[in-house]
Amino acid sequence: MTTPQLDDTHDPTAVSWVESANAPDTDFPLANLPFGIFRHDYEERPRVGIAIGDQVLDCLAATHEGLFADVDPSVRAALMSWSLNALMALGRDDARAVRRVAHRLLRAGTPEGERARAMAREILVPMDAIGMRVPAEIGDYSDFYASVHHATNVGAMFRPDNPLLPNYKWIPIGYHGRASSIVASGTPVRRPRGQVVATPDGPPTVAPSQRLDYELEVGAFIARGNRQGEPIALADAEQHLFGLCLVNDWSARDVQQWEYQPLGPFLSKSFATTVSPWVVTLDALEPFRAPGFERPAGDPAPLPYLDDATNRARGGFDITLEVWLRTAAMRAAGADAVRLSRGDFSGMYWTLGQMLAHHTSNGCNLRPGDLIASGTVSGPTPDSRGCLLELASRGQSPVALGNGESRAFLQDGDEVMLRGWCEREGFRRIGFGTCAGEVLPVLG
Ligand code: MN
Repeated sequence: MTTPQLDDTHDPTAVSWVESANAPDTDFPLANLPFGIFRHDYEERPRVGIAIGDQVLDCLAATHEGLFADVDPSVRAALMSWSLNALMALGRDDARAVRRVAHRLLRAGTPEGERARAMAREILVPMDAIGMRVPAEIGDYSDFYASVHHATNVGAMFRPDNPLLPNYKWIPIGYHGRASSIVASGTPVRRPRGQVVATPDGPPTVAPSQRLDYELEVGAFIARGNRQGEPIALADAEQHLFGLCLVNDWSARDVQQWEYQPLGPFLSKSFATTVSPWVVTLDALEPFRAPGFERPAGDPAPLPYLDDATNRARGGFDITLEVWLRTAAMRAAGADAVRLSRGDFSGMYWTLGQMLAHHTSNGCNLRPGDLIASGTVSGPTPDSRGCLLELASRGQSPVALGNGESRAFLQDGDEVMLRGWCEREGFRRIGFGTCAGEVLPVLG
């Protein structure tokens, strides 16, 4: 069994010379150091950055200043790249080497930290002065359906007598998502048009979706890929997972209801998917590992290629996840967003390792920068449901927002914000930042 790999970078007493990184509630303390791709307002060229408090370490500038002289030249080249694909392709050991150097550079009271601090003007940029990009060139995106609570709730709406299909407890169910329409947090999302029906058998009309929804999900970026024809074993799966982000899998439920059989969702999902811009590495998440799902008596054991002791003991991640909504009326009134739900990622039926092992089990090749997402993260309680379809019971019980408004589905001008963080006694809290998007009216 793999032992936890804790090192100096997880030391909760380490202090950064970047003051904002020491705030107890920051998402980006010295223990996190997530990677992202940002753009200065004065140039087109995207750069690799590492979030620290309310600042970003500009890896291109820091490399030019010689601050990454200790890492391999191939790693320095990746840090000067335009996307994270090169760093992802090198693999987790090299990403960990960068993390260790960045930790020393940003730590107060070390020789490396003093040297970096003297260059702060050259190597740090305030987060509010830059734009964030999708962190990798995503070649392929696959979305799973790994919350048994979500699958049961949604299944019951469409098949009251038979909510969970017979394959659910055997296969990490997934579908092939659309990579081209993945956007970074902050990008507005336009309401789609599509075929919708008034009665289950049609006929359809083409109309703006009236049942636009969000889905709260966790995404994982692939590090090293696999050769086509050569599956990744569950035991090796996490060596191929670079890090995690938040994902909003926007969904047009009325379009989905008509189109989803027999091949699954298509245009109801492919118009937009939003990702949070900071990729939190598995190394940063090491203190927050959780057991895999404990199957109740009566559930089948996973097939051997989806089961091992390590996955059972620590295949999960303890991440608290929230959804917040700010409507146009709230913005106009200067009111704060309201929280719609709070759940936890540790209750998923399948782990990310199992999803990856299953994904490649037929020989399908994953490539560096590919994205897999968990599926809607819903928990067992009503306040932990990760989409409006479930929260408002398919539109039947609109959610009161506390200002006189309510929502069965999203309205134009609604801004959906996903948040996630990890907390555990003896460690620094780390967070994912925000995954946000506002709904724009349909075109024309
Ligand atoms: Mn989804």
